[in-house]
Amino acid sequence: MASTQSSSPSGDRSSLNSPMTWHTHSIESALQLMNINPTEGLNPQQVRQKQQQYGLNEIQTTSGRQPLEILWDQFTNIMLVMLIAVAVVSAVLDLRNDNFPKDAIAIFAIVILNGLLGYFQESRAEKALAALKNLSSPKVRVLRDGEIIEIDSQQLVPGDIMFLEAGVQVAADGRLLEAQNLQVREATLTGEAEAVSKRAETELAADASLGDQINMVFQGTEVVGGRGKVLVTDTAMKTQLGQIAAMLQSVETEPTPLQQRMSQLGNVLVTGSLLLVAIVVIGGIIRAGFEYFEHLLEVSLSMAVAVVPEGLPAVVTVTLAIGTQRMVRRNALIRKLPAVETLGSVTTICSDKTGTLTQNKMVVQWVRTLNHAFLVTGEGYAPWGEFQPLHRISRDEELNPEEKPRLTPQHQQELQPLCVASVLCNDAQLKHHNDIWTILGDPTEGALLALAGKAGISKPTWDAQMPRRAEIPFSSERKRMSVICQDADAAIRKKNAHFQMFTKGSPELILERCDHVQTADQSIPLEPEHRQQILEQNDQLAAEGLRVIGFAYKPLNDLPASPDEDSSEQELIWLGLVGMLDAPRPEVREAVQRCRQAGIRPVMITGDHQLTATSVAHQLGISQSGETVLTGQQLQQLSQAELEQQVKQVSVYARVAPEHKLRIVQALQKRGEFVAMTGDGVNDAPALKQADIGIAMGITGTDVSKEASDMILLDDNFATIVAATEEGRVVYSNIRRFVKYILGSNIGEVLTIAAAPLLGLGEVPLTPLQILWMNLVTDGLPALALALEPAEAGVMNRPPYSPRESIFARGLGAYMVRIGIVFSILTIVLMVWAHGEAQTGGDPGRWKTMVFTTLCLAQMGHALAVRSDTRLTVQLNPFSNPYLLAAVSLTTILQLLLIYVPPLRGFFGTHWLNGTELAICIGFSSLMFVWVEMEKLVKRWWKTRK
Ligand code: ADP
Ligand code: MG
Repeated sequence: MASTQSSSPSGDRSSLNSPMTWHTHSIESALQLMNINPTEGLNPQQVRQKQQQYGLNEIQTTSGRQPLEILWDQFTNIMLVMLIAVAVVSAVLDLRNDNFPKDAIAIFAIVILNGLLGYFQESRAEKALAALKNLSSPKVRVLRDGEIIEIDSQQLVPGDIMFLEAGVQVAADGRLLEAQNLQVREATLTGEAEAVSKRAETELAADASLGDQINMVFQGTEVVGGRGKVLVTDTAMKTQLGQIAAMLQSVETEPTPLQQRMSQLGNVLVTGSLLLVAIVVIGGIIRAGFEYFEHLLEVSLSMAVAVVPEGLPAVVTVTLAIGTQRMVRRNALIRKLPAVETLGSVTTICSDKTGTLTQNKMVVQWVRTLNHAFLVTGEGYAPWGEFQPLHRISRDEELNPEEKPRLTPQHQQELQPLCVASVLCNDAQLKHHNDIWTILGDPTEGALLALAGKAGISKPTWDAQMPRRAEIPFSSERKRMSVICQDADAAIRKKNAHFQMFTKGSPELILERCDHVQTADQSIPLEPEHRQQILEQNDQLAAEGLRVIGFAYKPLNDLPASPDEDSSEQELIWLGLVGMLDAPRPEVREAVQRCRQAGIRPVMITGDHQLTATSVAHQLGISQSGETVLTGQQLQQLSQAELEQQVKQVSVYARVAPEHKLRIVQALQKRGEFVAMTGDGVNDAPALKQADIGIAMGITGTDVSKEASDMILLDDNFATIVAATEEGRVVYSNIRRFVKYILGSNIGEVLTIAAAPLLGLGEVPLTPLQILWMNLVTDGLPALALALEPAEAGVMNRPPYSPRESIFARGLGAYMVRIGIVFSILTIVLMVWAHGEAQTGGDPGRWKTMVFTTLCLAQMGHALAVRSDTRLTVQLNPFSNPYLLAAVSLTTILQLLLIYVPPLRGFFGTHWLNGTELAICIGFSSLMFVWVEMEKLVKRWWKTRK
């Protein structure tokens, strides 16, 4: 590491603060060197100046495969290898007969063109994917001009003061100014998987290795817990990560399921065609000995060219690219290309509740102290509203709006400590612009700030009065957080206490840790009946679908040296409950319905209370009353085998911790499910990786969860997952559609060519050049248009198909062979007839052009008919896919030009056809269309008969 360091440009810095020495300085000296005021940060002018000096905070990686690698991959595919062999043989044949090796050159040109096309497509796809990733570029919280704001990580400059919290991927290198339980995983840099505990108040020796620099943080590492405040020292390519960026190119490129299917297809085609060639050659030799060997060789070459779907790879990549575009328009951002095709196979969607199924716009509706219930009015995060006290808790009384009792001083006395706890034990901020109130931070905490605001208690005022001295942060495992604040003026209660600890979180967990309860003017011992009463209050609120948070506090005489949950979060004094509404997203109900129709089971996984979860799940139709809900605690008791038994019946998991998510995915997968799983926290990453489709939240998701995901929801919305699934199905069915279309024609061509020598026609009907033309142009353009086919009405009305099914599954293989045979019968009948006709006079080569033209035009009919598997073409809106109409018209015109424009005729070796002959070709071709439509009718009849 040191060697990379010394060779790196240290820029314009003086030797004093060269990049390696920040860890040797004290906090004060680091701030001084940078000339930064730690409570103000940079001002806009300094930012502008520094941005000019240092540029954007970006790391230029050559991500993914090297260009040469991509190019090489294009030519190592078995079908192209076969084509190259064909070109070589064809060149030898032509040169021996003193002919210009036109076909060989054309084939070579196609091989190269195909390779280049594939290359550009793939590198474009990789670039597009990289660009998409940038769309979700991480945000950083920084202090600028005395205010905490959120900026794109690219905008970060040295001298910025940035804030770190669990789940963040560190966006630049920096010297720690403050650290509370800060845990950072630095595997990207040091390879060490264990998280490192960081400390700010220390100076280290100059030769401390990167892994030992515990007062520094480095770009690209992951904060797994705690909080930190950092002075940014290096950005962009000057960071440790930037300097080793060149080493970070090991992006795995496994073949996608589709690529695997395509290479399976290639193998089948190549083997099949070699077999056919063998039959033709041996049959020919048996029939006429070696006299016609060269002719047989020509036939074989043509067959080999005919069988390779030259246009297919390009069409496939374009389709996937279109798929990602369509998905991003519906707010689903694909991070890994295979997700595009496999999304359609999802059978279970495990979704978070908060924010994904609900709106994540919290508003407190109820506050309950031991003796009183308060209905809280007001909307959104604006700190305006009233507390309406309701006497003893009886639900009938609550519903009576007539009597609006006023708050008594006693009420206020009871509410005050709870509201103070709300603002002090809180990391969010309330912001407003022209009466529009928004929050920075967690919506749960934002709602609490609004609540306290309604009682006239504001965070900035109280933070100043009671500064925070220590904290035990919130995590999804702990489901609670605590802070210890200085209480110099004894603002709260106990006169002799110098510190106050405030705890908030899951009520059951907080209550367990209480031994007293607060009433208006004193704290009294918490009796079992109080406990009972509080738990009932909790259940009542939760049953209404409210998110319930419990509060407690404890006066302390001294600041504990290192507060931890076992020693500090004990002997608390219960303050009360807060119930907040997080309304379900209106569109989710319908999305859940669509899931069910599509054979996909939605499952809710939440850290919230089981009653809250059940209520929301009922409202959304995810579960019905009477169905089991599994809590994290119960899950903990189950062995993995037992969980596998239950996992198919449970639709709601409550009070779970992230590690349970992993177990749930694994159990579902064991039961054969194809699982999509959402997640937002750091600790969700393993579950996201394990899931078949890992889905991260675009808005609330941590950088770490995004890194681990296959797809990001830009709007955090469950409905978006369903929409993406639909697009995935469309992509897959379109791929199958054009594979069917292209390969049916290839088989037809091969059989037609094979028939010629067997029928003793003496000439090969199609030259390699003509075949290439068909496979690339007349098959390719309509195939591209088929890739743009909009969703069929029924895509979400059928169960998902297995992602492991073969490309030939569900009758596709049979269809291809059947259509190929029909194709070849049509053309062979025409060929025999036209061949006989041509012997009687005029141009004797006309029959070959008639075969060529019929094959091309029949494909146009096929393209139009293949749009739907079930509905007749007349039942489809012809303009719902205008591209297909355009492709068919264009291709037909091109084909006619090949026959009627002399230079083209010369080049492609076609012959002039008269009107009758052309009409006959068209007539034969249209039979193809008629056949496919007839198949649909027969299928329909068969179905109704059943
Ligand atoms: P989910 O995202 O599924 O709703 P969370 O892990 O966010 O689950 O929350 C689980 C529980 O933790 C909540 O029901 C609540 O009791 C508690 N909780 C949530 N947010 C906070 C917070 N900021 N501070 C303290 N406790 C919280
Ligand atoms: Mg949450």
